[in-house]
Amino acid sequence: MRSTLITNIGELVTNDESVGDRSLLGVLRASTDAHASVLVNDEVIQWVGSSDAAPDADEVIDLGGNTLIPGFVDSHSHLVFAGDRVDEFEARMRGEKYAAGGILSTVAATRAATDETLRTRLRAFVDELHSQGTTTFEIKSGYGLNVETEERLVRLAREVTDEVTFLGAHVVPAEFNGRSEEYIALVTGEMLDACAPYSKWIDVFCDDGAFDVDQARRILSAGRARNLGVRMHANQLTLGAGVKLAVELGAAAVDHCTYLSDEDVEALAKSQTVATILPGVEFSTKHPYPNARRLLDAGVTVALASDCNPGSCFTSSMPFCIALAVREIGMTPAEALWAATAGGARALHRSDVGSLKPGMKANLVEIKAPSFRHLAYRPGVPQIGRVWIDGNLV
Ligand SMILES: [Zn+2]
Repeated sequence: MRSTLITNIGELVTNDESVGDRSLLGVLRASTDAHASVLVNDEVIQWVGSSDAAPDADEVIDLGGNTLIPGFVDSHSHLVFAGDRVDEFEARMRGEKYAAGGILSTVAATRAATDETLRTRLRAFVDELHSQGTTTFEIKSGYGLNVETEERLVRLAREVTDEVTFLGAHVVPAEFNGRSEEYIALVTGEMLDACAPYSKWIDVFCDDGAFDVDQARRILSAGRARNLGVRMHANQLTLGAGVKLAVELGAAAVDHCTYLSDEDVEALAKSQTVATILPGVEFSTKHPYPNARRLLDAGVTVALASDCNPGSCFTSSMPFCIALAVREIGMTPAEALWAATAGGARALHRSDVGSLKPGMKANLVEIKAPSFRHLAYRPGVPQIGRVWIDGNLV
């Protein structure tokens, strides 16, 4: 067993309300707690506390007063695809509206790409995530939309993460135009058979221009019958019954939540379903932002994720999403950081990541600043220092 003591931490965010300042983030601060330290044994956190009481270790790493946080948990991304849609982005910035149909141009490029091309791009994205402090991430399929390519996408995603989501129901592909029922039969039949072995989750884009609530119910129920967990894209473009369906089906998370009725908010507050806010999408589409304050005040569990994808939001930066959440949608820096770490872990039903407590995975991120609040305070500035995954520096 190899032990490492990370010491001289100026501000240590644990997400454990029973330690430090007893806040949501359970922060240990140099000013009040001497300097904080974390002891890592192999892959897990062994001990958290003041440097005065730190146990001996094989190796000591001095953080020089910098901040240490749990690694970001990005519970929503679409990272296996080919091509890009920068022209569409530019047109949108000129004033054209975002519509769900743009997905089909990425589908054509992805079908034409080899496994090797997709794998090389995917690995580059994973490096990009790590360098920005993301240590756990979910990846969806959804740019294949035929049996062969959807199976390739979940298989490739499974090479880099356990959190793989089958999203054959992203949109109806062009060759099934006007025959959406036949496409749903494919998604819930042969395509599900091919993709379920690589997937932990099933997802549906339930919105204008994608799938309606009855179709979404059938698709998600078929996945659930194959022991896949349920998550949804809903209420991004309009008010609809997607959030209510997510709660009814006991979804782990319902993502976007831009347009919500009072009943939606109430249903979420009474449920175990996490509302995932994806503010990079509104930034990149010029849509109105969701109202996270309303959700938090009602007692809803909120996660923050990137939704990194080539169409509506091509950022993989969780620090950028935190800055947007604080600046644009009414979250405090503490709420935004919690949502980007512990909130993401809840949205993925993970109890081994998202906080720094003894027994958890040693997924740690150094912020080169005296406080976690600098994540929102200094948007766009590269402040991520060393990143550890399972106790190993990456
Ligand atoms: Zn998405």
